[in-house]
Amino acid sequence: MIISAKTKLLCVIGDPIEHSMSPKMHNAAINALGLDYVYVAFNVKKDNLERAVEGFRGLNITGVNVTIPLKIDIMKYLDGIKENARAIGAVNTIKNENGRLIGTNTDGDGALAALESAGVNVSEHDTIILGAGGAARAVSHALSKKARTFTIAARRVEQAIKLAKDISNPSSTNKIQTISMNDKKKLEEQVKNSTLIINATPVGMFPKIDNCIIEKDWLPEKSVVFDLVYNPIETKLVKIAKQKNCTIVHGLDMLVHQGAKAFEWWTNKTPPIKIMKKEIIDFLSHSRKGS
Ligand code: NAP
Repeated sequence: MIISAKTKLLCVIGDPIEHSMSPKMHNAAINALGLDYVYVAFNVKKDNLERAVEGFRGLNITGVNVTIPLKIDIMKYLDGIKENARAIGAVNTIKNENGRLIGTNTDGDGALAALESAGVNVSEHDTIILGAGGAARAVSHALSKKARTFTIAARRVEQAIKLAKDISNPSSTNKIQTISMNDKKKLEEQVKNSTLIINATPVGMFPKIDNCIIEKDWLPEKSVVFDLVYNPIETKLVKIAKQKNCTIVHGLDMLVHQGAKAFEWWTNKTPPIKIMKKEIIDFLSHSRKGS
C-alpha cells in the first residue's frame, strides 16, 4: 500500500475500537484490488461525536463505519439517512456524497447475503429470531418481509413487540409474531415449528462459550441455524446444530458481507469476499477478543 496525496480515507469510529477487525478486512480488500484508499480506526467518545462528524466534513473523508456505542447518536448529525437505517433506528455506514454525509445500515443486507451464500432462500422458511436489540432489528427488517412466517422472541417481550411494530408492513402477507423468551414451553414449541433459527443475542459469545438458549432436542433435523455471534466462530449453538444435520450460517459470514456492502458503496468495486473472510478468520485465530 502506497499512501500519496491522492489517497482517499475510510475509517471506523466507536468506543472501544482497538479490537475492531474492520481495518484488517478493508485494507486487505483495498490491497487486493490495488485501490488508492486507506482504512483506519478512531476511538471516538460519545461526547466528541459531533466534532468527529465535523472532522469528516472538514477533511472530506470518503466513508465511515460506525460501531457501538455511536450507531444511534450519529443519526442526528447526518445530512441524509436511507429508509432502511431509519426503520432499523441505527446507522453503521456513512458515505460522503459531494460533501453530504449519507447514512445507511448494511447489517440486514449483510445477513441476507450470508444466508444466500449458504444457499438459503428465506422465503421458504418459518423463521424465529432470538433477541430484539440492535442486530436483531437490522436482521428482522431485512428478513421479515421475505420469510414465510417470522417470530421475534425476546426476554423483554415489549422490546419484541416494539420491533414488530416498527418493521410491520401493511402490504406484506406474512405475519410477524412475538413471544417471551421467558416462557420456555412456548419458546420450545416455536423453535420446534421453525425451519430457520437465528440467534441475535450475545449468548454463546467469548468468554461464555458454553452458553446456549436453545436445547438440542428443540432443533428440527435439517433446519437452518444462523448464529450472529462470530467469536468463537464455532459456537455451542453451531455445534449442536451440526449434530442435527442443520445448514449452518456463521456470524462471521454476516460480518464479512456487511463490510463488503459498505466497501462496494464507497468504492463502486466488487468486494473480494474470500480475501475479506480470510483476514477475519486469521484475526480471530490470533486473538480471542475480536469485536
Ligand atoms: P444488543 O443491542 O445489546 O442486543 C442484545 C439482545 O440480546 C437484546 O434483545 C438482549 O435482551 C438480548 N440478550 C442479551 N443477553 C441475553 C440473555 N442472556 N438471554 C436472552 N437474551 C439476551 O446487542 P446487538 O448489537 O444486537 O448484538 C447481539 C449479538 O450479535 C452480539 O453477540 C454481537 O456481537 C452480534 N452481532 C454480530 C454481527 C455480525 O456481523 N455477525 C453484527 C452485529 C451484532 P435485553 O434487552 O433484555 O438485554
